[in-house]
Amino acid sequence: MAEHLPRVEITAMGTIHELADTTTCDALGRPLSADDTVMWASSIACGRCHYCQDLR
Ligand SMILES: [Zn+2]
Repeated sequence: MAEHLPRVEITAMGTIHELADTTTCDALGRPLSADDTVMWASSIACGRCHYCQDLR
């Protein structure tokens, strides 16, 4: 039944206001800093986080 459910993609775009001490780079390892414009999409997997590795 699950294969009949519609796929929904969620995307967002914005500007970094402030970075947490533990966040220094994006999912591809590129450095991030305040005022960078970034985009997030639910269909892009980093392959390293809890959701990618444990909840595939
Ligand atoms: Zn991930």
